[in-house]
Amino acid sequence: MKEVSENKIGTGKGIKNQETKDQWPEVEKVFTAFVEREGYRKTPERYLILKEIYESGGHFDVDELHMRIRQKGKKISRATLYNTLELLMACRLVLRHQFEEGATQYEPAYGNRQHHHAVCVKCGKIIEFCDPRVGDLDKALEEVFNFRVTHRSLVVYGECDSH
Ligand SMILES: [Zn+2]
Ligand SMILES: [Zn+2]
Repeated sequence: MKEVSENKIGTGKGIKNQETKDQWPEVEKVFTAFVEREGYRKTPERYLILKEIYESGGHFDVDELHMRIRQKGKKISRATLYNTLELLMACRLVLRHQFEEGATQYEPAYGNRQHHHAVCVKCGKIIEFCDPRVGDLDKALEEVFNFRVTHRSLVVYGECDSH
């Protein structure tokens, strides 16, 4: 990995404020407050799924998550998984991405600084990056189209360095 200067593209460290597994106590509180406020039931399955997502960190698809939970000897139906992921997205603890190739991907989102994705079309590797220059794009959109950017999802496709 080449050195990058302050104002240029960055990767890995710095994108996440802290390890997602260290966020668990906070995340648990956020989720409990959400289900109590919205009147959902506090089922152990929902907490188990959320905990698994934050313990492992990173991107995952539903099949991977299902397998990881089963490997730990727990049984959770796919319907419960989907239903819980919807709840977790509603309280912004999980983000969903639909990349061009492959299954829908999710990732933990608590305290996650806004970042973008570069997806390898050959092996599916995902590089997360942030770049302050994307802010210039927001400014340009506002100036030219009077468009106010609230958030964004930037995905770049290509080939990674293992090909
Ligand atoms: Zn690749
Ligand atoms: Zn990501």
